Amino acid sequence: MEEKIPGLIRHSWSKCMQCGTLSQLEEYHGLDLTRSPEGKELLLKGEFFQWRCPKCGLEADTAWPCWYYDPEARLGISLVPGIESSAGEEAVQAMNRSLEGLSQPGMTHRVAGSFYAMQEAVRAKDMGLDDRTLQLVKPLIIGQLQSHGEVVWNGFFQGVSTPDPEEEPLHAVLYAAIGPDETPEYGQPIYWYDVHLTNRKVVRTGVNQVVFQMCQGMLEKLELPPDDGRFHLYDLNWAIDCHNRAQQG
Ligand SMILES: [Zn+2]
Repeated sequence: MEEKIPGLIRHSWSKCMQCGTLSQLEEYHGLDLTRSPEGKELLLKGEFFQWRCPKCGLEADTAWPCWYYDPEARLGISLVPGIESSAGEEAVQAMNRSLEGLSQPGMTHRVAGSFYAMQEAVRAKDMGLDDRTLQLVKPLIIGQLQSHGEVVWNGFFQGVSTPDPEEEPLHAVLYAAIGPDETPEYGQPIYWYDVHLTNRKVVRTGVNQVVFQMCQGMLEKLELPPDDGRFHLYDLNWAIDCHNRAQQG
């Protein structure tokens, strides 16, 4: 990693939750692409925020407050470790108050609670997908895993691929058909997610185009205002709330 830009790497001490060993953590802060263009690639690679205890080998993901900025993609993401929409709305409001005057129409400003959520917002922008639709998919795939007894922490969008229509349906994918009597088509795009279990296992799963379009329809019904350049936090909790409200209404 580049070290010539001052402040790119900051050091902090971290204590292992399992054995109590103190070790030094290198916090990478070069995610403003105007200062460090390699920041995007490093973020998507995702290694710099994965930590391993030098003594007992415990592995954990770390996060620190930082800022991702890509003016070309018109995307800015503020990482606030651990923030969740269920408790974080006030924090987002406070952030908007402190950044009054910086909000730019036409910019997408997001708040993320982890580097995984930050990666997800970057991928969504790269692929021209509405990140809110991607959030609305999550309760469906996570609910399915939970019904098989898995204990889930969270899930994050990875990408889209179109399988060969001749192939068998993929068992990790949630398929829906357009009509109640129809069978799903298998040659359609699949929207892939990595679902993180609480035991640190990662399960690759996805949904077909029809499920994704159902979530798009759901987003349209929510009639959210267009992006106003202010910071917004859309996460799993936000998506669960939307699904609950849709069921009640
Ligand atoms: Zn340890």
